Amino acid sequence: MGAVGGVEDDAAVSCPVWCERDHDGVHYEDLVHHSRAHFVQGASGDWSDGAILARSLAFVMHLERPVGTTETWVNLAEEEGLWQVRLDVATASKLLVALRQVLNLL
Ligand SMILES: [Zn+2]
Repeated sequence: MGAVGGVEDDAAVSCPVWCERDHDGVHYEDLVHHSRAHFVQGASGDWSDGAILARSLAFVMHLERPVGTTETWVNLAEEEGLWQVRLDVATASKLLVALRQVLNLL
């Protein structure tokens, strides 16, 4: 989104190339760079009474970085739920590799 102002002592702040957020206000979300969201529809399994029961689930994930910092986070959350986790990029990369290895067992 280019340079923005008003969030750090009137100094212009440059957004990372992936940021799609305007930083016009002072709300928490205005102080975080935010990428386009990606949605994954699928299913998860809940353990219940000795069986795994599938339920539909939708995840949403995006990159975020608090303005004025250099560390980027991968935010993964239920689209409609309370579950949410933020992973640093190194951890997200390790998770991706591990997920591929597990799926390659099939
Ligand atoms: Zn930004």
